[in-house]
Amino acid sequence: MAKTFSCSHVHSECSWSATENTETDLMKKIAEHAKLHGHDTITPDLEKKIKSLIKEA
Ligand SMILES: [Zn+2]
Repeated sequence: MAKTFSCSHVHSECSWSATENTETDLMKKIAEHAKLHGHDTITPDLEKKIKSLIKEA
């Protein structure tokens, strides 16, 4: 079961999304993309929020 994340849940104007086989790989991609939104590091709070928005693909 793959994991998917759509950035639009956090930034409604952003159409970026990613799908990976594991949450770990997906978090890496999200961390990279988050830099575009000024999040140089994923804080524990942000990570919590992101993880709550990760869906099974
Ligand atoms: Zn985005």
